[in-house]
Amino acid sequence: MKAAVVKETSPGERRVALVPDAIARLRPAGIDVLVESGAGEAAWLPDAVYADAGASIVSAAELYQAADVILTVTKPSAAAVNELRKGQAIIGMLAPLADPDLAATLAARGVTVISLDGLPRTLSRAQPMDALTSQSNVAGYKAVLVAASEFGRFFPLLITAAGTARPAKVLVLGTGVAGLQAIGTARRLGAVVSGYDVRPSSKDEVESLGATFVELTSVGSAAGEGGYARELTAEERQAQQDELTGHIARHDVVITTAQVPGRRPPLLVTEDAIKAMTPGSVIVDMGASALGGNVTGSRPGETVVTGNGVTIVGADNLPATVPTAASNAYSRNISALLLHLTRDGALAIDPGDEIQAGVVIAHDGKVVHPGVAGLLLPAEGGAGVDGPSD
Ligand code: NAD
Repeated sequence: MKAAVVKETSPGERRVALVPDAIARLRPAGIDVLVESGAGEAAWLPDAVYADAGASIVSAAELYQAADVILTVTKPSAAAVNELRKGQAIIGMLAPLADPDLAATLAARGVTVISLDGLPRTLSRAQPMDALTSQSNVAGYKAVLVAASEFGRFFPLLITAAGTARPAKVLVLGTGVAGLQAIGTARRLGAVVSGYDVRPSSKDEVESLGATFVELTSVGSAAGEGGYARELTAEERQAQQDELTGHIARHDVVITTAQVPGRRPPLLVTEDAIKAMTPGSVIVDMGASALGGNVTGSRPGETVVTGNGVTIVGADNLPATVPTAASNAYSRNISALLLHLTRDGALAIDPGDEIQAGVVIAHDGKVVHPGVAGLLLPAEGGAGVDGPSD
């Protein structure tokens, strides 16, 4: 089986799906690796290193001609979709719940679509494949560095002959994978750190990292299914925003990571909260998206300074800005999944397997993942779409 690593094409994307040291791990399973020339360059992995590790360096045209499985980080470009054909498979973080039409288009072309974002993350044997976790870790780390470089003061307590600098007070809102990594990183930089989440179980995790857990009196637990948060009701949301405002005003730096699967990111930092912050404060919104983020006025990929001197960074694809570490981790995840899917040197699609039931989105010309199929209207999905249509 030929697995092919494409050069990512989304703007600002510097990661690569497979790093050279994965090649030797795949070979015993009968997997040969093709690499599109320049695929690893932006992550400081030149073609020569892949060639030395045993990969064949090919042009894009040769790659789509020869590949059985295409390995990618994010969604393929429209041009790449047109190159894919029946019998080929694509594996990546393809966001099928956000973009079910892509899955339908690929299904109609006879392409098997496998997305790492559908992985059942709580299954212990799936953990080496958990790209959402590995990339959230990178993002949480980088968010703190972004905040520190925007901040006009030090993070640690510094006592020098020129005076004493008090440590920065950092508040992390949303303490899942990215938030906990942000807490750890801010602590290592010497800041005084607090964390808040609607899942009460995160209290112990926050405290074990040496941070203070912020408890709101007006909002109870919002633990949802599978370890995730549920969406708050309008009343809960209002109460949360009001009570958080006082906490936010007492901090120099706020990092927000809150997400609810399949929903818009919740708004945690309102205009009033921003107005209550002191000039020079910094907010990094990791939830920033085209639909809105955790912070009023944040825009993905942009940094804005408010009239009262608060810098708001709309963090956009932070893992791509730490490309080598993010690619190393992602490469481990995608290799583990590829090996799990491979039998006798070929992909063995088996919907009865718990991991495959989560990650296999389209196969045999049909969208087979019920959650994705359910998002496709009959007119859009065409004859090839299985599952509920409303
Ligand atoms: P996520 O990216 O969906 O959300 C980030 C955080 O935002 C979560 O902690 C969530 O509770 C929080 N949040 C959502 N709405 C909020 C609100 N209104 N106010 C405050 N916080 C809010 O989550 P994630 O980081 O992917 O992980 C979520 C959970 O899944 C965690 O418990 C994590 O430990 C667990 N998890 C487990 C495994 C495993 O078992 N192997 C793997 C990955 C994640």
